[in-house]
Amino acid sequence: MSGRRKVLVAGAGVLGLTTALALADAGLEVAVHDPAPPGDNASGVAAGMLAPAFEAALDPLARLHFDLLTAARDLWPALAERAGIVLDRTAALAVGDAAWLEEAAERVRSLGAGVRAVDRAGLEAAAPGLAAAVRHGFAVEGDWRLDAPAALAALRRAGEAAGVAFHQAAVDGAAGFDLLVVATGAGRMLIGLAPELARLTPIKGHILRGPGALGAVLRSSGAYAVPAAGGLLVGASMEPGRDDRRVDSGQVGRLRAAAARLFPLLAEAPMTAAVGVRAATADGLPLVGPSAAPGVLIAAGARRNGWLLAPLVAQAVAAYAAGAEPGPFAARLDPRRTLSSRG
Ligand SMILES: Cc1cc2nc3c(=O)[nH]c(=O)nc-3n(C[C@H](O)[C@H](O)[C@H](O)COP(=O)(O)OP(=O)(O)OC[C@H]3O[C@@H](n4cnc5c(N)ncnc54)[C@H](O)[C@@H]3O)c2cc1C
Repeated sequence: MSGRRKVLVAGAGVLGLTTALALADAGLEVAVHDPAPPGDNASGVAAGMLAPAFEAALDPLARLHFDLLTAARDLWPALAERAGIVLDRTAALAVGDAAWLEEAAERVRSLGAGVRAVDRAGLEAAAPGLAAAVRHGFAVEGDWRLDAPAALAALRRAGEAAGVAFHQAAVDGAAGFDLLVVATGAGRMLIGLAPELARLTPIKGHILRGPGALGAVLRSSGAYAVPAAGGLLVGASMEPGRDDRRVDSGQVGRLRAAAARLFPLLAEAPMTAAVGVRAATADGLPLVGPSAAPGVLIAAGARRNGWLLAPLVAQAVAAYAAGAEPGPFAARLDPRRTLSSRG
């Protein structure tokens, strides 16, 4: 019989898988349980952007947390190497009309991040088929991306190689384990074991997959386009309060129109829709750390930045599990903190 502490991780999204790997690497005996097939969650449909600058510039809730988002991004190269994940560090591009571009560039600069103007030839090289009306853009170094389904599979393989046991089953208790990590995304089934989950709101999101060959992430007003295996992704809707995964033709139509504004050929091209449900707190940051319930740690509520934040979340949870210092962002992420929508 091993004398190692036994940890049950509920949820095999990016937060659960990354945390399980960190816990196994710290020497704990780890099991991950999830009733869904691998990748059938928000993590599996995500665009995979690791984008501290554009997120902080374009999302008011992220603006106050650029330091935290950047710290999370900086943990990615080591995690990618550990798990065999390919990181695409090509600079992300903003495109749009002059007024929007100027405002977006000013917001990026106000964070202390640099922008580089890109002319039409540069945009065409990065985004063949880009609408002729899109003449100007700027690039931001340091906003990266990965392929989310491939990265999920790599995290799972790395976990298995590190001794993590996977079971396709729902968690409804933690008998036989020393510690429970609740990484159930927008799922509310474990609210009886982790009452802080009541602080999470679902935000449904549609994303489209279509043909194309994109060399860089494109951000524009109201939509983004991202390179993906076999084509590109165009996203994403933000539908607060919705937790169903039904495809809504109205949302698909809006995204198709946005896609066609960027790439006219997409107006008629076959595109498929996927839906994921994000979980969010009022201040935009996840719940990471101890629940008021003993023996329970939470890693949930990463809103639209779960991929970006995953290594930071995993590092903090592993530190809590080891009784170590959980890092400089612990108070901002504490599941029991006072939540304010002003962050
Ligand atoms: C359209 C879209 C695009 C996105 N794009 C990006 C992006 O570009 N960059 C980025 O950083 N983030 C992005 N996000 C956000 C990101 O996907 C989420 O923040 C992240 O996936 C959350 O991961 P998670 O592990 O917390 O939850 P999930 O991936 O939802 O995983 C939770 C898992 O818990 C399981 N579960 C539920 N209940 C139980 C139970 N009782 N027992 C066991 N398991 C249970 C579920 O089956 C599920 O598999 C996007 C999200 C969407 C919807």
